[in-house]
Amino acid sequence: MNLGLEAKRVLVTGSTRGIGRSIAAGFVGEGARVAVHGRRQETARSVAREVSQEAGGTPVAALSGDLSQEDGVEQVFQGCLEQLGGIDVLVNNAGAYEVCGWKEADGERWMDSYAVNVVSRVRLIRRVLDSMRRQQWGRIIQIASISAAVAPPVFPDYAAAKAASVNMTVSLMQELAGSGITANTISPGPVETETWKTFAIQIGKGQGWGDDLEEIKEKLLSGWMSNPCGRIGRPQDVADACLFLASQRSAYINGVNLPVTGGLAARAI
Ligand code: NAD
Repeated sequence: MNLGLEAKRVLVTGSTRGIGRSIAAGFVGEGARVAVHGRRQETARSVAREVSQEAGGTPVAALSGDLSQEDGVEQVFQGCLEQLGGIDVLVNNAGAYEVCGWKEADGERWMDSYAVNVVSRVRLIRRVLDSMRRQQWGRIIQIASISAAVAPPVFPDYAAAKAASVNMTVSLMQELAGSGITANTISPGPVETETWKTFAIQIGKGQGWGDDLEEIKEKLLSGWMSNPCGRIGRPQDVADACLFLASQRSAYINGVNLPVTGGLAARAI
């Protein structure tokens, strides 16, 4: 299937590792013009170089900026204008999570979590809308989390922030009626990235299961991360869904929250 992503200008936030890196590499493979983004310029540059080499030398831009700060968002947006000439596809992937339960998560923690996982995204969306409206085409994709729906007690601030991402996408989709821009959410279940492995080991230790990752995964897969596909997700699973939602082929898919979970927490309604 031709996704029609050639020469599309794509910003994937938080793409120096994990799910974001896989999404960025996927877009590069489809012939898009991609900006890799991370908090540190040096890291962004080195990952952009790697991704470019993997794709046979296609140029990949490297941008940096702390998205929890207004000036960091501005720096990333201006970098896109300078290096790509604009943004056709915004993938709001950057986010932060770790085990921090109700006893530990104080008000400040909730505020920080909201700044990183929600407000950063709103700022970027507000920045890209004018030009997307002018060109009457755009794709805005949020990487949320199935934790928005199942809300486990291990990271309440994060799960609630992800629920905000799901919610605001529906509102945004309506705001963009008739503009040629679609807004969708992807809600991954557990995906085996380095950050997720650290998180899983934190859970394992908390449960008294020890720190062997394979044993912890087995226990999680027979417990609250159980899913009919019988495995933890891979970054590529999310990347493939993201490429499709960004493509020309998904023009009639708007305002959805697509679970990429192997069936975890699936509901008929
Ligand atoms: P990760 O830690 O590997 O990557 C997160 C990226 O976001 C990193 O590049 C990091 O530098 C960036 N980032 C974080 N805070 C930032 C900030 N303030 N400014 C700029 N960049 C910042 O995580 P991952 O596991 O690949 O997760 C990626 C996304 O997918 C996150 O939004 C996460 O919430 C979501 N998610 C992950 C899983 C999972 O199991 N891995 C499941 C559901 C949802």
